[in-house]
Amino acid sequence: MTTTPQTAPATPGQAPSSFSGPAIDARAALSLPYTHVDDVFIDGAWTTAAGTGRNDVTDPATGQVWGSVPDGTAEDLDAAVAAARRAFDGDWARLAPSERAGYLLRIADEVEKRATELSLTNTRENGSPVSESSGAAANAAGIFRYFASLADYLEREDVRPFPRGGGESVVRRDPVGVCALIAPWNFPINLMVIKLAPALLAGCTVVMKPASPTPLSFRIIVDAVAAAGVPAGVVNLVTGSGRLGDALVRHPGVDKVAFTGSTPVGRKIAAACGELLRPVTLELGGKSSAVVLPDADLDAMSQVLVRSCMRNTGQTCYISTRILAPAGRYDEVVDMVTATIAAGRQGDPLDPATVFGPAATASQYRTVLEYVESGLAEGARATTGGRAARLGGGLEHGYFVEPTVFADVTPDMRISREEIFGPVISVLKYSGVDDAVALANNTEFGLGGLVFGKDEDAALAVADRMDTGSVGINFFASNHSAPFGGRHDSGLGTEYGIEGLNAYLSYKSIHRR
Ligand code: NAP
Ligand code: MG
Repeated sequence: MTTTPQTAPATPGQAPSSFSGPAIDARAALSLPYTHVDDVFIDGAWTTAAGTGRNDVTDPATGQVWGSVPDGTAEDLDAAVAAARRAFDGDWARLAPSERAGYLLRIADEVEKRATELSLTNTRENGSPVSESSGAAANAAGIFRYFASLADYLEREDVRPFPRGGGESVVRRDPVGVCALIAPWNFPINLMVIKLAPALLAGCTVVMKPASPTPLSFRIIVDAVAAAGVPAGVVNLVTGSGRLGDALVRHPGVDKVAFTGSTPVGRKIAAACGELLRPVTLELGGKSSAVVLPDADLDAMSQVLVRSCMRNTGQTCYISTRILAPAGRYDEVVDMVTATIAAGRQGDPLDPATVFGPAATASQYRTVLEYVESGLAEGARATTGGRAARLGGGLEHGYFVEPTVFADVTPDMRISREEIFGPVISVLKYSGVDDAVALANNTEFGLGGLVFGKDEDAALAVADRMDTGSVGINFFASNHSAPFGGRHDSGLGTEYGIEGLNAYLSYKSIHRR
């Protein structure tokens, strides 16, 4: 593969990267591989891409272009899908699941060796604070190990007698085939690995397309896959725009699609897969609520607030960015949320003390600022933030929006209804628990949610009434062994857990006397 030092000039026609200022010196001291690359991973090798088009990679903390990757073509896709097909028709699908689990365990070890490289590349691509991205390798390794542990489930013999006697059926769980895996930019490692690991355990082969803003970090996972000795063709990686993603979804050689991203793109993919009768898993957007019950411990809530409601500078699909507070404690909740968010340091995402980084892209930056302006125009009150952040130290051209808390938000406001995907929290008032549940459920989405309360039974009862795929009580975290998925406009199907593995299987019943 091609690697050049970080100080290499940007793509032809662009000024060489000029790193200056204290924060930037820290950056220049880092040696990050893969800056400008011209290859894609096909059939077990880094191979020069077919076309000459390139896409830039921009550091959202500085606005500087720091790398570029091939803009993949139909020729690359054909080669990748053909390699995946050959590998699927070869030995991979026929290996015992426990043998494939062995590969997953080796991949996990290889990923952990690359933790620092992975974290820094991820942070420079999308501005996730290193406090966040430094967990990416361990999290990915945990996902590979969890799915490796499901080999027993795949190997267990499943023979079911006819209920009225006279025979039995042997139920086979075959791999579904060649899978197209498409991920967004907010968690470029996790959201691809959560597809790759179950696909590999099931015996599928894959062609992956990361999001345009984050095409580099996943190469490090692919290196780990190669170092683990995974046979050629099982794992293929192309880079390119949404157009390439669309071509991959529709490619005649693809048997299944797994996508995480926005609801509008998810709908297009669902339509294409509907026409093709191609199985598809969609993890889409959200607008989740945190119900603060009257007995909630606000100090304890403050401890988990950033993680649960503004993780990754608000660029997390399941976070609860609408906080529903009881009328009697509304001001108290607004004060706690404001103080907690205002205390989080915003700055260089490469600084381990940073809590809030930039928006990941220039377009996301503009979108978030438009939402902030719409909130102000519709009469919401910003208790902290409410504008673009002006930072120095080399970050003057970064895409920073001040972490913002809006009080006096009503359910009809756009900031209350639409996914913002940035550092903006709304606090709404409710009159009673029924009202809180109705407010939480009054959305087209159904992805996450939270209930804060001291009485665990009362909190569980509210969680049970929330029309959403996951709910946390007094904290939120995803559990590798529990299904995660969205209802309504938040998606179709499930990832994580045995349910997530099942999405990569095709059942066959063999009946016999
Ligand atoms: P996006 O615009 O939908 O893009 C997601 C991926 O799809 C990218 O790789 C994109 O490529 C590709 N793509 C774009 N158009 C396509 C098409 N017509 N056919 C096939 N692929 C296409 O989403 P995003 O802006 O990257 O990510 C933010 C969204 O992801 C948010 O809405 C967020 O809620 C959602 N999300 C959901 C979950 C979940 O698990 N439910 C998790 C995280 C994020 P390009 O980048 O080249 O356009
Ligand atoms: Mg997009």
